Amino acid sequence: MSDFSKIREDFPILNQTVNGKPLVYFDNGATAQKPQVVIDAIAKYYQEINANIHRGVHTLSQLATDAYEASRQKIQHHLNAEFAHEILFTSGTTQSVNLVAHGFTSLVKPGDEILVSAMEHHSNIVPWQMLCEKTGAALKVIPMDENGALIQSEYEKLLSEKTKLVTVNHISNALGTINPIAEMIAKAHQFGAAVFIDGAQAAPHLKPDVQALDCDFYAFSGHKVCGPTGTGILYGKEQWLNRLPPYMGGGEMIKEVTFEKTTYADLPHKFEAGTPNIAGGIVLGTAIDYLNGIGFENIQKQEKMLLEYGTQKLLGIEGLKIYGTSAQKTSVISFNIAGIHPYDIGAILDKMGIAVRTGHHCAQPVMQFFDIPGTVRASFSFYNTTEEIDRLVEGVKKAKTMLS
Ligand code: PMP
Repeated sequence: MSDFSKIREDFPILNQTVNGKPLVYFDNGATAQKPQVVIDAIAKYYQEINANIHRGVHTLSQLATDAYEASRQKIQHHLNAEFAHEILFTSGTTQSVNLVAHGFTSLVKPGDEILVSAMEHHSNIVPWQMLCEKTGAALKVIPMDENGALIQSEYEKLLSEKTKLVTVNHISNALGTINPIAEMIAKAHQFGAAVFIDGAQAAPHLKPDVQALDCDFYAFSGHKVCGPTGTGILYGKEQWLNRLPPYMGGGEMIKEVTFEKTTYADLPHKFEAGTPNIAGGIVLGTAIDYLNGIGFENIQKQEKMLLEYGTQKLLGIEGLKIYGTSAQKTSVISFNIAGIHPYDIGAILDKMGIAVRTGHHCAQPVMQFFDIPGTVRASFSFYNTTEEIDRLVEGVKKAKTMLS
């Protein structure tokens, strides 16, 4: 078992006071903190090899290109993708979703259906709605139950020959639910539908195997896996990426340009127009190495312990209700206290140096389902401690007394 108190020392930002109190960072679902190796790797890139990639014959350009492509291969192996060219660098999950939704415009016609789950982040709803508006396809919603689990029998009823694509998150950011995506993918494939998995909340907690899952697309954001902001990944099966048209036109994504016609580059360059976030892409590989160095089994054990400890302690507070009580969930606790607005709890916790997220978490339909304005969300990472959870519980109790 890894020594998590030592691992915590890798994160310099955690060692500070906020509002006069030692920082407790429980907003990991929004973005994860960065270990020193990641911070150093960004500086090292700019100090030693900064140059544009895939262009110059000069040495620095080649070093930068090699490092960028080595990072792509690292991510290929991390996800167990068959080919490195199935890994596209994007600016984040949002761009990954938009790239695929844009591409499907040419593959979808009026009367076709896109299935989306009831617990999606807005970034995995709005691009598909835009696709439906453009094409005349219909957006259908896979419903969930009171525990925040998708109702599989309803999902099966929705699937038909009309279904062109199913999109679902691997883990819900608002509730922490881990969805049974392997089964859902297999069911969709029986109808020939493609499956897009939003792995934004899963990638920090587990190592997805895209070949075993047999998903057609898998997306995640670098900043949630201890990597830099403005980085992301889209895995797509080779045959799907070859079918989709480019998302953006520009330099680097072409074979030949004349004023009459342009031919496009092969994968992955067809989808990577312009100068990318080179440092970010390289350092995303450093972040993935860092997490693999700890080991995802160890990360999961630690986070499970924190989830169980936090759930039990918070449920000891009278009037506190947790949303997302499915048996399969990750270290996210979304809660409210009867009669108190989540924002007010968050503001008081902040005064105590405790960072949580409050509001609808970019998942307004989830809030509409539970008929609430929002929740307080504490999302734990492996670098958090039970002592920090004790401080959260004390803080929530104080807030309750002050606001009741
Ligand atoms: N999907 C889920 C489930 C998320 O939690 C998030 C980020 N909160 C996103 C998509 C969007 O990710 P990004 O803002 O990094 O593009």
